[in-house]
Order: sequence, then C-alpha cells, then structure tokens
Amino acid sequence: MRISDVRAVYPRWRGLPAGAWQSHFWQIVVEVRTDTGEVGLGYGGGGRPAVEIVGSHFRELLSGRVIESADDIREAWDLLYLKSLPYGRKGIPIMALSGVDLALWDLLAKSEGRPVYDLLGGLEKRSVRAYASTREFERERDAGFTAVKFSHLWEGANGGYDDAVRAAARAREVFGSEALVMVDCYMSWDSVVTAEMSRLLAPYGLYWFEDVLTPDDLPGMAALKPVAAPVLLAGGEHEFTHHGFGDVARAGALDVWQPDVTWCGGLTAALRVVELAERTGVKVTPHRGGEVWGLHLVAATGCEDLAETHPDRWREDAAVLWMDEPRAVDGRIAPADRPGFGVTLNEEML
Ligand SMILES: [Mg+2]
Repeated sequence: MRISDVRAVYPRWRGLPAGAWQSHFWQIVVEVRTDTGEVGLGYGGGGRPAVEIVGSHFRELLSGRVIESADDIREAWDLLYLKSLPYGRKGIPIMALSGVDLALWDLLAKSEGRPVYDLLGGLEKRSVRAYASTREFERERDAGFTAVKFSHLWEGANGGYDDAVRAAARAREVFGSEALVMVDCYMSWDSVVTAEMSRLLAPYGLYWFEDVLTPDDLPGMAALKPVAAPVLLAGGEHEFTHHGFGDVARAGALDVWQPDVTWCGGLTAALRVVELAERTGVKVTPHRGGEVWGLHLVAATGCEDLAETHPDRWREDAAVLWMDEPRAVDGRIAPADRPGFGVTLNEEML
C-alpha cells in the first residue's frame, strides 16, 4: 500500500489529562492514510509544533512511499531522522517522529489483521505486572496492584526527607514485604540528597530511584549508582533514540532504562534501544509502559515484566482519547488481541 496522506492533530485536551504533568506541548495524534483505504493511527508528543512538523516536512517525505513490511517502516524512520536532523535529533521533532512511526506500525499490523505485538515476534508475556504511579496506596492495593511508585519532589531538607520516609514506610506497610516500591523524584534531587535518601530509605527496600539528576548529567548518575545500590537508578523518559541511549550506555549512567515510546522515536527507536540494553546488560521498563504504545513492546520483547500505569486516568470523569485501552486486572495488564494497537480514537476530542 502506498501512503496518500499524513496529518497530525493536537487533541482538545480541555486542560491536561490526568497523568499529564507538563503545561505545554502534550500528546498529538497522527493519522497515516493509504491508497488501499487502510488508516494507521499513532500517538506522539510535542503539541502544535509537532503537528506542524508532521503535516509539512514529514508529510512531504512520506507521500507516495510504499509500506509493506517492518523494513519499510525502518527505512521511513531513517529517512525522517536524517532529513529532520538539522533541527531535530532530540526533543519535539523526535516526539513528532514517534507519532508517525507508531501510526506506521498500526497501519502495517491492521493491513495484515494482526496485533502489533505479533509483528514483533509474538507475545513473550501473556500479561505484564502493572505498577501504579500514585500515592493512593490503599485504593490501588485493594485494586490488586503489587507494585507502586510514588512521586517525591524535593522541597528542602526538613519536609523533603521526612515526606519521602513517610511515603516509603506507608507504601511498604500497605503493600507488604513482597511488593515493589519505587520513588520518582523527577530530577529534583541532587547527589547529596540521593546519598542521604539511600541511607534514610534503606529500611523500606525500594526497588529504584527514578530521575535523580537531569539527563544531561550522565557522569553524575554513573557516580551515584554505587551510592544508591542495592536500589537501582532508573531514568530515560527524556532521552531520545538509540543514539541518545548509546550515550547513556557508554556513561554507565543507569541500571533501568525508561524510554517513552511516544517520545523517544516510536517503536522503531524503542526496539533499537531494547536491543542496545540487552547488549549493555541493563533493564528496560518503558515510561507509561501500560499504555498500548509501550505495552505491545513490553509484552513482545525482553523488557522487564513491569508496566507503568496511572490509575487516575481510569477515573469516570477523566478525558479518554483512546477507547478500549486495556486496564490492569489483579495487578496485571495485557494488550488486546485486536489488529494494530487495538484502540479506537475518540473523535470528539479532535
Ligand atoms: Mg518519571
């Protein structure tokens, strides 16, 4: 089939959806149309600037291209990466490319009547252990979760340490000794705070500390790894492509890589990141891995048996852009056995 049109839309988010923490340039929808009538849908980041990149430059590059195989998608990815390189490589252009790439995978899978995970070699895991990113510990334990991550933003020496210790202690108490408990400080700690947290949180057996420094301070994180151990250092949601993760690998900066499939360059880039991680000997647990874009990857590859979910997104009143998204049941989540990524778009939000 031949690509006849490519366009992107910034959904009417009416404020930002639950689980979004950025004030600008949130997720976009990408649609790829073909001469056979098959349509692929993808999810990218970067807001209106990304919509502009997709609808102009990327549309021009992709129009008329034939997509019949995974290799065709990889070639399209390489072309878009190379042509956008003068203004791209990281950030919004790669978030835009992510949406296009995911739409191409959705398109190819739908044209063959198969789920995307099938194109990746089939399921390695029938379902994936889900973790809840929340501080509603009791609610999510009662919902069946056995893994939880709370966020902790550093607000100074007094309240900062106490709040983290209280949250970690309560999470351990609520979820029990077998549960995985993680903390995400979203780049608000520094080396001194991380060292002190390692000491203070040691009794609660945390699994990882997430995003302790900014992604530009790779040597800093490499130096912190032995300080934090046995707690793992996780990060990478703001890293881009296998080139970016190549730098992470060379620096030995992280134990757990967390590419966001809708930002890092789509499934094509994420597959290359997973391959690199396997060679490097680190774990991969994609950022928002419980959303279908990451879930197909987690279920079909050597990623850890762990997928991030934001149960707040499943509240009754939350805006739903993608309908029929799987939810965690008894603490596990599974991609649907439907063509493509298996979700439909809520047109009312466009
Ligand atoms: Mg995070």
